[in-house]
Amino acid sequence: MSETFSGIARDGAARAGVLRTAHGEVPTPAFMPVGTKGTVKSVDPDELRALGAGIVLGNAYHLHFRPGEELIAELGGLHAFMGWDGPILTDSGGFQVFSLRDTLLEVDDDGVTFRSVYDGAPERFTPELAARVQERLGSDVAMCLDICLPAGTDRSELEEAVRRTTLWAQQQRDLPRAPGQLRFAITQGGLDGELRRRSSAELVALGFDGYAIGGLSVGEHREPMFDATTEAAAFLPEEKPRYFMGIGDPEGVLEVISRGVDMFDCVLPTRTARTGSALTREGRLNLRNARFARDQRPLEEGCPCPACTRFSRAYVRHLVNQQEILGLRLLSLHNLRFLLDLVAAARRAIERGEFLSWKEEALEGAKGAM
Ligand SMILES: [Zn+2]
Repeated sequence: MSETFSGIARDGAARAGVLRTAHGEVPTPAFMPVGTKGTVKSVDPDELRALGAGIVLGNAYHLHFRPGEELIAELGGLHAFMGWDGPILTDSGGFQVFSLRDTLLEVDDDGVTFRSVYDGAPERFTPELAARVQERLGSDVAMCLDICLPAGTDRSELEEAVRRTTLWAQQQRDLPRAPGQLRFAITQGGLDGELRRRSSAELVALGFDGYAIGGLSVGEHREPMFDATTEAAAFLPEEKPRYFMGIGDPEGVLEVISRGVDMFDCVLPTRTARTGSALTREGRLNLRNARFARDQRPLEEGCPCPACTRFSRAYVRHLVNQQEILGLRLLSLHNLRFLLDLVAAARRAIERGEFLSWKEEALEGAKGAM
């Protein structure tokens, strides 16, 4: 086992371990709340810590344009800037560039040209820029620039994306990094088993601190997505951490853990909160529903979050309907706690060697929470 990652327990393909970073250790499997613009929307760092978050995600695309990595570096780096002294993973910006399809201008072997969502000006991301932005931000884990394509892309285009993603990772691999910063490569290949294996094998041959499974959860059906996860993970080394990008529903999280994934991120808990919904063991509750008007129970019985320990569903419903900021905050705190607790329970089940039976039971109730 490497210094960066060590396994503690294994149950089938599922693993419990520890990721070591310059700002502390992260027990895995780990859910990473998303702080796109240097904040997990409406939740402060002390609250994040109390909810059980061990690592948060920042977004190089957005921070590069607003307020800019040089300004953040001048103010002491992203940890100091956002008041979070725990581990931070930053994505490279590739996902934003390629998911905002109508802003794309040109892709070549050296990078990608696109229009910024902020002012429409033509901009260019290259492996050099991705390395430099993340070096200046000072994150603990930096990601390689990659090409992420939507579901349904034809094979020749996927193959070209795999080729360029490897080429860019090779260019980014040895560039300067922040002290102690880890660098993860991102595998691509869509749902094509052969391309997934090729992408994993090529990136592993280059040698990185960890590997992400990218280009999934982009609009495809669930079963083929899980199969592709198995294919992608099969060629990744045991001793390195594996990160599935962009999954956060209860079923999805447990399914990727069962396939050997250690880390994942998603905006789902906070986005769901903004739609007025709570994640619970019995499924998703839409607090706008009139049936909660006189419901004195907490969002979830027994949940230790700030929303459930003090407030009723009826009160949260009132706040949501009146678009009060506290309603959004309480739902965000609860939803983050729900997912972080689910993943912590998964870790304990792996340690006990009971992950599969525990997972079936956990998903019985949570089916509606997807
Ligand atoms: Zn709660």
